Amino acid sequence: MLEDAGYEAFYVGGCVRDLIMRDIAAEDPASITYGDIDVTTDATPEEMKEVFRDYRLIETGIKHGTVTVLNGAGMPVEITTFRTDGDYSDHRHPDSVIFVRDLKEDLQRRDFTINAIAMDRHGNIRDPFGGEADIRRRIIRAVGDPDKRFREDALRIMRALRFAAILEGGNKLAGEAAAFAIEARTEEAMFRNKELLRNVSAERIFVEFKKLIVGSNAGNVIRRYVDILGVIIPELLPMKGFDQRNPYHKYDVLEHCVRAMEVIKEPGATDEKVQVYMKLAALFHDVGKPDTFFIGDDGIGHTYGHPARGAEMIREIMRRLKADRFTAERVTDLVKYHDLVFQENDRLLKRWLGRYGETLLLEILHIKIADNIATGNMSHELEEKFYRVEEQIHRIVESKECFSVKDLAINGRDVMAVIDGNEQMTSNQKGPLIGKLLDEVLEEVIDGSLRNDREALLARLEIMMKDQL
Ligand code: ATP
Ligand code: MG
Repeated sequence: MLEDAGYEAFYVGGCVRDLIMRDIAAEDPASITYGDIDVTTDATPEEMKEVFRDYRLIETGIKHGTVTVLNGAGMPVEITTFRTDGDYSDHRHPDSVIFVRDLKEDLQRRDFTINAIAMDRHGNIRDPFGGEADIRRRIIRAVGDPDKRFREDALRIMRALRFAAILEGGNKLAGEAAAFAIEARTEEAMFRNKELLRNVSAERIFVEFKKLIVGSNAGNVIRRYVDILGVIIPELLPMKGFDQRNPYHKYDVLEHCVRAMEVIKEPGATDEKVQVYMKLAALFHDVGKPDTFFIGDDGIGHTYGHPARGAEMIREIMRRLKADRFTAERVTDLVKYHDLVFQENDRLLKRWLGRYGETLLLEILHIKIADNIATGNMSHELEEKFYRVEEQIHRIVESKECFSVKDLAINGRDVMAVIDGNEQMTSNQKGPLIGKLLDEVLEEVIDGSLRNDREALLARLEIMMKDQL
């Protein structure tokens, strides 16, 4: 439609990069699904509004020249006017944007050569900075002078790490799939300018960090660039090289945590949000160790209380990065409880199911498995045991055996009725008693000394009430 109206229009950014990569990877084009589609055009936003007057158009960022139009398949297409950016005096926002009529100028403002390739709708490529060759060589290279580009917008440092973590190139059929590397001059400039990341908003950083951490090469990126990530998460720095002085731990704390992050699997179906918080929890599960470390009389390193200390630290990290509340709380809980000692014991597992709930408990178990694999000396027997525990948890849940107060055949109102019959008690005493009695009844049901049957529970309650007096 833009072309029919006499304008130029090109696909650009991630969709072109992914298309070329899939071509190299010899993947079936029919299997391709796109993340988002970015289009660049010489039409101004006002001109776009005219062209798409019969379409739903969202003014995503009119000042920057961006509108969003839903295509025939209902997919959002972000269309941006060719532009160059003015000065970046604050290292994150251009002071102004200037609309231009030349595609090359638009490509020149883009972060990396692999993202600065344009393609028209017939598949003709415009690639003035050699992006396609860099995709073939699996290289992430800044467009232009890397120092200047990172000084303009330091988020690009995080974006380079994100692309290094997620991109995997090469011909998959030929078994050549491999990660991308950051070109040497670009990499040096990243280290030189890393402090500028402090000027970038936490929200923008966390968006990139969440994408980074689920990447197939995230572990190597964290290993190599921990000093850069340490600018935004300084808690990573003491973990690096921290010798645990313990025969059970052959890796330093950072290496151990990175390994846990590499092997962590979320229980159940893959869900992006779950994947992110499981990776975060695995990476930071031992963040409290350097702080709690001491050498005992046995000459061995100990870190008692490190899960609780770690939970405080990760809560603070998540707050600083402005993580959403659910993610922040979940990661904190997983770090806090990562040290549970799982046993094939019905009573114990039921109590924990009551305390943590099924989802969290299974996630803690998976952190625990990753933690053990990441020591480098998990035995086959232990691994088998963990999987039996997982089965056992599923079995308890499926058999609908009672493990929480809400599974009891009585509820608070029943307890209230029993208590109310008692005239010697004041109402101040009655309130807290309800919860206490329910918990006691639950304990006995879990122990197997009491049947989860309404009559039996009520009879037992009467006796407990007498004991209270
Ligand atoms: P994804 O597949 O994750 O969407 P992407 O490369 O398309 O990756 P976007 O954030 O959608 O990333 O950005 C679209 C394009 O805009 C990029 O490919 C790049 O050309 C340009 N771009 C985005 N952010 C920046 C930035 N901070 N500096 C320079 N160019 C950028
Ligand atoms: Mg994109």
